[in-house]
Amino acid sequence: MKFYPGYQYVRQVTEFEKESDLIVQKGLIKDGKNYRCQRCNTTFLAHENCLPDGRYYCRECLLLGRITSSHYLVTKPIKKPVKKAVTFCFKGKLTPAQEKISQGLVQNFIKQKNSLVYAVTGAGKTEMLFSLLCYCLTEGLTVAFCSPRVDVCCEIQPRLQQVFPKLSVGLRYYGAKPYEPTPLLVCTTHQLLYFKAAFHLIVVDEIDAFPYAHDKKLHFAVSNALHESGATVFLSATPSELEIKKAQQQAGLFCLPARYHRRKLPVPKLVRIKKQSLPLTFRNKRVFLQWIKYLLLHNHILLFCASISQLKAMEEFLKKEVGKDAVGSVHAADPKRQEKISDMRQNAFQIFCCSTILERGVTFSNVSVLVFEADHQIFTKATLLQIAGRADRKGEFSHSEVIFCFSQMTPALKGAIKEIKELNQKAQKAGLLNEV
Ligand SMILES: [Zn+2]
Repeated sequence: MKFYPGYQYVRQVTEFEKESDLIVQKGLIKDGKNYRCQRCNTTFLAHENCLPDGRYYCRECLLLGRITSSHYLVTKPIKKPVKKAVTFCFKGKLTPAQEKISQGLVQNFIKQKNSLVYAVTGAGKTEMLFSLLCYCLTEGLTVAFCSPRVDVCCEIQPRLQQVFPKLSVGLRYYGAKPYEPTPLLVCTTHQLLYFKAAFHLIVVDEIDAFPYAHDKKLHFAVSNALHESGATVFLSATPSELEIKKAQQQAGLFCLPARYHRRKLPVPKLVRIKKQSLPLTFRNKRVFLQWIKYLLLHNHILLFCASISQLKAMEEFLKKEVGKDAVGSVHAADPKRQEKISDMRQNAFQIFCCSTILERGVTFSNVSVLVFEADHQIFTKATLLQIAGRADRKGEFSHSEVIFCFSQMTPALKGAIKEIKELNQKAQKAGLLNEV
């Protein structure tokens, strides 16, 4: 039987007993009246998850294949690293501030210390990791680059493949092909549940994003998939205060308050529209359309809505007002999601209405951002910061703007604007901005 190193196989005892170098754990461990799953670390009451034949199973990680009280988790330990030559093709140039962080991450890793990179949207977080990735791969170490979001994984994998053209860079997410080992794997944080002590370096991008942020089993997955001699690098543009503090205490915090292109983060403008739902009243409609026309003078618009029903109503409304072919939309359950996002990258729509699925990880050039109903509870401070971060990401300055339409002020709105202003001040002080 073939066992790829570091991968956890769910097996019955008879299927592997002849092989001696394997790590074998019971799938579920009994703990009083409870069972604890060794794959996802979830504890559950035995009688709640009982099969007709008397065995117990873990419901929490069922999507990965059922694991029961008669199963074992079998892992072949990863091999000792062997140094190798790696072709590293990075044509870009890091700014001095990026370079400093890039080197700091390598030093921290050598000391086996975890790091947190707190860098604004558009700071070039991924590029700052290239040196560390190159160091690990040259040392023959195994690396996982993960994100809670599939879209982000799909965008990062080809970028890493370009930088390491002679290396096979794997990509794994739910529903992808069977596992094949690669020295560098890009995957969703969920996929880490399949591994044990498999990676010397795990990079977790967007640590504040759903579902990683509040899912204990994914936090367990990261620590369980990490090799005992390894370290983790966490990335975020909007980490929680707790994470910042934790990293600060461990001397693993790297902060970059400015973007690669040395321009300020656009500070959102607040536009009060009394009744924030469609159809708009005559007066609100006039105000709203004036802003739309104003934004369209210089850029295309990414228009965020709080719910799918509002998103559809908004698309219909704007098609009537601006033109049928000028408006498109996308949401998580949209079957043409990838196709439409790539159309938008080609500037196919003047206005692209979207749900929060486009709040992070995606970059469009020449867009302004408008959030309708920005006082809705779905728009947390972190979400608003991420959304505002879609504006003025790359290229020449294009008068890209951010508009938050609201009817009542919320702590999230206030907090997001305050943080953007503070980051701009911090960047200015550190000499990381160009004078405009
Ligand atoms: Zn489980």
